[in-house]
Amino acid sequence: MPLAALAPDSGLVGLLYIVSFSLFIYGLRLGTHPTTARRGNGLAAVGMAIAVITTLLLQGIGNWGLIFAGILIGSIIGAVASKRVKMTEMPQMVALYNGLGGGAIALIAWSEYRHWVHIDKALSTSGEITSRQDLRELVEGSHLSIKVIPETFQIFGSVPLEVLIPTLFAMVVGSISFWGSNVAFGKLQELIPSQPMGLPGQKVINGLLLIGIIIGGVVLGVNNDLGDLSQPLFIAMLVAAAFLGVMVVLPIGGADMPVVISLLNAFTGLSAAAAGIALENTALIVGGTLVGSSGTILTLEMATAMNRSVANILFAGFGSPAGAGAGSQEERPHRSMTAQDAAIQLAYADSVVVVPGYGLAVAQAQHAVREMADELEKKGVSVGYAIHPVAGRMPGHMNVLLAEADVPYEQLKEMDEINPELPQTDVCVVIGANDVTNPAAKTDESSPIYGMPIIEADEAQQVLVLKRSMSPGFAGIDNDLFYHPKTSMVFGDAKQTVSDIVSELGEL
Ligand code: NDP
Repeated sequence: MPLAALAPDSGLVGLLYIVSFSLFIYGLRLGTHPTTARRGNGLAAVGMAIAVITTLLLQGIGNWGLIFAGILIGSIIGAVASKRVKMTEMPQMVALYNGLGGGAIALIAWSEYRHWVHIDKALSTSGEITSRQDLRELVEGSHLSIKVIPETFQIFGSVPLEVLIPTLFAMVVGSISFWGSNVAFGKLQELIPSQPMGLPGQKVINGLLLIGIIIGGVVLGVNNDLGDLSQPLFIAMLVAAAFLGVMVVLPIGGADMPVVISLLNAFTGLSAAAAGIALENTALIVGGTLVGSSGTILTLEMATAMNRSVANILFAGFGSPAGAGAGSQEERPHRSMTAQDAAIQLAYADSVVVVPGYGLAVAQAQHAVREMADELEKKGVSVGYAIHPVAGRMPGHMNVLLAEADVPYEQLKEMDEINPELPQTDVCVVIGANDVTNPAAKTDESSPIYGMPIIEADEAQQVLVLKRSMSPGFAGIDNDLFYHPKTSMVFGDAKQTVSDIVSELGEL
């Protein structure tokens, strides 16, 4: 195939890009249901492979050895990490990968800018050039190929604003996303303390950093004669954006990290789209916009599920000891029972609703839970599952987990659907869930989670709570449900306790 067929504005490249982002969009669509999500992911990956191969061929970029080495190393690390990572560690993995995306975009923006500032003396021969189109016309008929456009940028005296603005945006937002995501990763992996950490006057410092970045961008935009100063100014903006990314995420508590990661994910998408505008790469523009918009929607959905604004999540310092609610260490009377007694209570119920949470995921109790439901159904008990939108550590966590154990999807009920059924439910079994069942969200105005919609387990006739201790959940606050007269605690690892219940049910 002649390389001309792969020129950026050739029909073939456009067609391949359309195929690739159609696959992204269709993959996202399939991702909305657990039964099709895996196929959707596979299709989106094929779309990404097409986009990458097309871009590599059309750009004819210099060092193929380095490119293949990068692809090989990245593929090996990605494949090994995806096999090894536990579902409960998925948010930090997303944070790490998302951060790398943002970092890559910031570096691409920097490299793009460097092409401009190393102005070649050929400027004098170039005449009036204000856009890439002019550049293409200049390149046409000369010995320069369209493939070397990045190098030929050097013949410009100034960066056209249509390129400079998206380049600076991609650099700043990509850098914020890289550093912010790394802090989020460190908090979730407990490499750094997950409590909110901040300096006095932190918001003022952040404001000054942002103002400094904006002023730097304006200076670069209006002044073509900065000469040797333009690169240091660009690098200063890159460093300021890095500080801003760290400073914005450090004061946010670990409990809010999944939301922050989703927000930073949206940032990376927007920076990729901006880089796509600067590089005139349609696949980057479409792919980046898809990530930006889906990340934004996810962030808003998570905030809504917690009944908090995104601003409150970013700036309230939720999860700090001061906000952790009074009395969390207080010894309060509660009832507990054995797995054997729990099995008897369940066997004599007509209806049982299971509320899965993070602890179920940690214990990998999903298969045992499915076995428990099978045993109960054999005894004529109706079993359903109450799914809270932020149960676990990422949206859809519980759906994925239960789908893995072949729990019929029709038995999974969203919070709004199951709550009205709970007062008629004989036994609600809360397995490794805590915050998402905390009645303080409904009744205690002073609670940090006040207003968050919850699974109203306290409305059921009887409640069994399976967890290892009376410790609080992710938000660090005590749960009144555990002390309710109708609640019995069944202490132990969720998988072990549920397996014990299954054995007891088999003997009843
Ligand atoms: P929580 O983190 O509130 O509680 C989990 C409970 O599981 C703990 O209290 C723990 O108690 C118990 N547990 C841990 N390990 C085990 C085990 N091996 N066996 C039995 N129990 C165990 O979980 P929820 O799912 O109720 O709530 C999710 C939290 O995450 C909410 O605060 C939510 O706001 C937050 N969040 C979730 C997001 C999402 O998208 N899903 C996004 C942002 C935040 P013990 O140690 O006593 O066993």
